[in-house]
Amino acid sequence: MNPRRATRQVKVGDERTGIVLIGGGIGHGRQARATGQPPAPVAVQTMTSGYTHEIDKCVAEIHKLTAAGADIVRVAVPERKDTQALPEILRQTTVPIVADVHFHFRRALEAVEAGVHKIRLNPGNISDRAQVQDVIRACRDVKIPIRVGVNEGSIVERKDKQKRAKELAGVFGDHKHGAMLAIMIAKLEEYLDIFYDNDFFDVVISAKSIDPTLVIDAYTEIARRFDHPLHLGVTHAGPRETGCIRSVVALGTLLASGIGDTIRISYASDPVYEVEDGLELLWSLGLRERKGAELIACPTCGRIQVDLFTLTQQVRAKLAEQIAVPMKVAVMGCVVNGPGEAEGADVAVFAGDRKGIIYVQGERVATVSEAEILDRLLAECAAFQDRVRSGQARLGQKKVHIAPPDPIGHLGSGWEKMAATRLTIEGT
Ligand code: SF4
Repeated sequence: MNPRRATRQVKVGDERTGIVLIGGGIGHGRQARATGQPPAPVAVQTMTSGYTHEIDKCVAEIHKLTAAGADIVRVAVPERKDTQALPEILRQTTVPIVADVHFHFRRALEAVEAGVHKIRLNPGNISDRAQVQDVIRACRDVKIPIRVGVNEGSIVERKDKQKRAKELAGVFGDHKHGAMLAIMIAKLEEYLDIFYDNDFFDVVISAKSIDPTLVIDAYTEIARRFDHPLHLGVTHAGPRETGCIRSVVALGTLLASGIGDTIRISYASDPVYEVEDGLELLWSLGLRERKGAELIACPTCGRIQVDLFTLTQQVRAKLAEQIAVPMKVAVMGCVVNGPGEAEGADVAVFAGDRKGIIYVQGERVATVSEAEILDRLLAECAAFQDRVRSGQARLGQKKVHIAPPDPIGHLGSGWEKMAATRLTIEGT
């Protein structure tokens, strides 16, 4: 993991929603200098999937996304009736709202007047200098930032694409994405000049594509050339099953190299999944403090003697509902590999022989039948959560070392050895 890249910082939100900071480490103004402050935690964004002018449905969806953990929610405002709905939507919601504007600069002005917390503009379809200046002035007056999103699909007029590509291809030599990178960078430079000419620096940049390798290359180049915070995303990534891989490959690579200040994972599916998977990505990279339990579970194999897939899904759903403390919970199919991989778990179950042995911070607390595993495991998780909250226990305080079964002369799950409790507990 590389350290996070220093950027300018923008603020999104107000007193009512709370302020979400994006980026950081470089000061404000035309001659901004390093501040030495660390960048803000990477923020998770998503976008509503319904019509913004259907106020009740839109508000309900924003509430659902906020509950899932979204830091910022974006809404589309293609029509006047959408911007007219914004004041009521803002009144009823508690998360910073971004207006996503394409083609009609007046929608941006209306959204600013309605009180949104950020505007997203696409240089590919709002490029008239006077119109962009009007939006910049409106945002400056109310001190809200603008995201400039140079999506591959809409960055240049299609009729100009080949001509521009030819003109600019030489900039990146024979690089696989050379022509498109050159177009994106050139368009950003042209567009941001309007902002700088108007002394406006509260800008976030995005450069999305459907191709994860182009996303990696584009953001890497942009990070070298601009000091604005970056909003990462793979656009039109598809359904969750494949979109997850495309998004995590691109965003994970960039975040691990220190690039990225806010992310949106986009799926052709319920946006709640975008939030859940975005948070899991940041937790996995250690870029955000985990909220709720971290579940470790074995993939099962020929040694399995319980229905572990069902059990794991049930445990996952219940932990999400009931546990807010970031404890590690392990669900292991047997004791062959389970003990080593569950080491460090606060609460663990090792299944075998249609039974489960449950450990809490290394101490065996119960041996139950397969049918009782779920309830007992959750009860132990809840009790452990209470002890953590009251200061009687600490997360990750003890490690468990369990001797695995003898490697020779013993086939099966090793259940007998496990039941005999050859284990030691270490304080840390
Ligand atoms: S923990 Fe046991 S059942 Fe699960 S994958 Fe490992 S060896 Fe197989």
